[in-house]
Amino acid sequence: MYVYADNAATTSLSPRALEAMMPYFSEVYGNASSLHTPGQRAAEALQRARETVAKAINADFKEVYFTGGGSEADNQAILSGAALGARKGKKHIVSTAFEHHAVLHTLDKLKKQGFEITLLDVHENGVVTAQDVARAIREDTALVTVMFVNNEIGTIQPIGEIGAVCRERGVLFHTDAVQAVGHVPVDVKALNVDMLSMAAHKFHGPKGVGALYARKGVPLVNVIEGGQQERGKRGGTENIPGIVGMAAALEEAVANMDRDSAYVTALREKLIEGLLQIPHSRLNGDREKRVPGTVNFCFEGIEGESLLLLLDARGIAASSGSACTSGSLDPSHVLLALGLPHEIAHGSLRLSFDAQMTEQGIDHIIRSVPEVVSYLREMSPVWDELERGQTPHLI
Ligand SMILES: *Cc1c(COP(=O)(O)O)cnc(C)c1O
Repeated sequence: MYVYADNAATTSLSPRALEAMMPYFSEVYGNASSLHTPGQRAAEALQRARETVAKAINADFKEVYFTGGGSEADNQAILSGAALGARKGKKHIVSTAFEHHAVLHTLDKLKKQGFEITLLDVHENGVVTAQDVARAIREDTALVTVMFVNNEIGTIQPIGEIGAVCRERGVLFHTDAVQAVGHVPVDVKALNVDMLSMAAHKFHGPKGVGALYARKGVPLVNVIEGGQQERGKRGGTENIPGIVGMAAALEEAVANMDRDSAYVTALREKLIEGLLQIPHSRLNGDREKRVPGTVNFCFEGIEGESLLLLLDARGIAASSGSACTSGSLDPSHVLLALGLPHEIAHGSLRLSFDAQMTEQGIDHIIRSVPEVVSYLREMSPVWDELERGQTPHLI
């Protein structure tokens, strides 16, 4: 038995999306910019996909720009907000300390160009509030960018309330919704969002394709210069198979969302109950304000990396948090943003899954994690000191 519980890193391709993509690798290979019949068949598929993606988030198709993934959409949204602000003499941006690196590193780049960045601290429950955002907004604030769902701990941010604050104050609002789209309902109009990023491979679409929603009237700057594709905002021949696959996967995810959420939430609750039986363990982030299938735990006295390797050997694919930090020994910036001490942030475990997870899979995790944690603690000098009372327990 091998249990895949790392959907927040990437998901499998849905068979229906694969089937929808197949003709566009072979028979329908035209360039969507070409005027001939093969080109026009590709252009029609592109238009249908754009309408499908727009409908899933309650946008107009003219507001959807396909990109090469979530990171590119984040980069383009933030650079666009910054460029628009700079033209009006506004060079302040508000974000949070627990964003994805696609956001944080773009903000670092802007800082070097003279922008001032306010990174909001996150409350211990893994949520920032609209009041936090409201307090940080200034006269010269060009952009607010706050993620919809945190990719390491799964908490949902109050995007509608933050959107309302931004709209009232006349500040542009972007949300990295890569972990939200296809998992929770997303309505860009109701949420007062100006720009929103998504990535197909986080909802069973193909890798390397995503989209940026930009509300009508929000001017985008190019990250990729080139031809007139994507209304001139993203050069390069469109990845038609990828875009078609993204639309098919999103349509399927939205259609099944209600049913899947109930099932996945029940599995998640069972998992939380099971793993919190481990002494000196904690669930990171609010228990309720979270997507159905992402949980993150800390186990005192152990290293996340060793835990992952031993779980893999037992047939469980999990993560210590962000795929981007795996391989580095630095604790997760997300857990540190929650205010967790370094010692605890090291021993984290993220499990992320959706309706493909079975009850047997969850049972296997609930059986295996406590065994592996005990095994690692037996060998851990840190745990030994904790148990002998030489250092106090933090959890
Ligand atoms: C995965 C992810 C990204 C990056 O998306 P890619 O398609 O891998 O570039 C950005 N933000 C969040 C929250 C993510 O989970």
